Amino acid sequence: MTIAVLGSINIDVTAYSDRLPAPGETIHGQNYVLGLGGKGANQAVAVVRLGGALTFLGRIGRDAFGVMARAELERYGVATDHVGDDARAGTGIAIISVDAAAQNCITVIAGANFTVGETELAALRALPKPPCVLLLQLEVPLAINIAAAKFARAHGMTVILDPAPAPSSGLPNELMQHVSVITPNEVECEALTGIRPGSSDTAALAANTLALTGADRIALKLGAQGAYWSEPGGSGTVPRFAVNAIDTVAAGDCFNGGLAVALAEGQSFGAAVRFASACGALSTTRRGAAAAAPTRAEVEALLAGSTG
Ligand code: ADP
Repeated sequence: MTIAVLGSINIDVTAYSDRLPAPGETIHGQNYVLGLGGKGANQAVAVVRLGGALTFLGRIGRDAFGVMARAELERYGVATDHVGDDARAGTGIAIISVDAAAQNCITVIAGANFTVGETELAALRALPKPPCVLLLQLEVPLAINIAAAKFARAHGMTVILDPAPAPSSGLPNELMQHVSVITPNEVECEALTGIRPGSSDTAALAANTLALTGADRIALKLGAQGAYWSEPGGSGTVPRFAVNAIDTVAAGDCFNGGLAVALAEGQSFGAAVRFASACGALSTTRRGAAAAAPTRAEVEALLAGSTG
């Protein structure tokens, strides 16, 4: 069963310093890391690491970061035949500053991610083996996500939407009516519903509110508190897996990759959210975005060793 990801590709430039610079100030930091990021690329790598069959659709620029992004995707085992080169826009980048207390500030330049369009839609429509799950996020143009979701739902695919970054104007009905599963984290949940999901009561309330937007199933990513899921037939909590978390970057992307793999395999929604939570938890034990994605064996071992 194939999984498709349509989404963003970035190179993350992360600088580590004791403190963040003030406006107008220049400071010396300790080191920097260049790595593959972007929610689309991260979710694609997460699927492949878990052994899922993947088609990835996205766009980079014709620049040095584009060469690097393609090479990194291929190094992780993500096929790049549907990753286009845009002659006019640069590769997406995220410039990230991190201080000693792990606080960060981030500037994202979407670049070629915002030129994702008809070419990628045509490629999705023309896939010889239609995927059973389509993963979407909100780092490529909304109109393209709407068109992709509409096509996917009409062809029987499960559409998983990561509503990130959360749009201040909410999610349009044109998109939500084609979404099978929505997966907000706590911040996105609050932005979309006005409810911060803390206890299982508030999570249930938030999930009920999200269900009114049109998604069939809800998976709330609750960081160190685990996850909550809800579908028409039931709901449940997934307690946090006890791991030694050192870097939560892209935990949500690994969660979504895991959710797609488990649903493609036909697991129940509750079991799939538990599998996804194990993926998210394991990713926090390693630094980086795409680099933090766990393998299938690691996930199986965590699931087997836990009663969570
Ligand atoms: P995002 O990266 O989108 O903010 P979360 O931080 O909620 O998403 O992480 C996604 C999932 O990863 C959570 O639902 C949870 O299952 C797991 N997770 C995240 N942080 C931790 C942690 N500190 N300990 C254990 N599991 C975690």
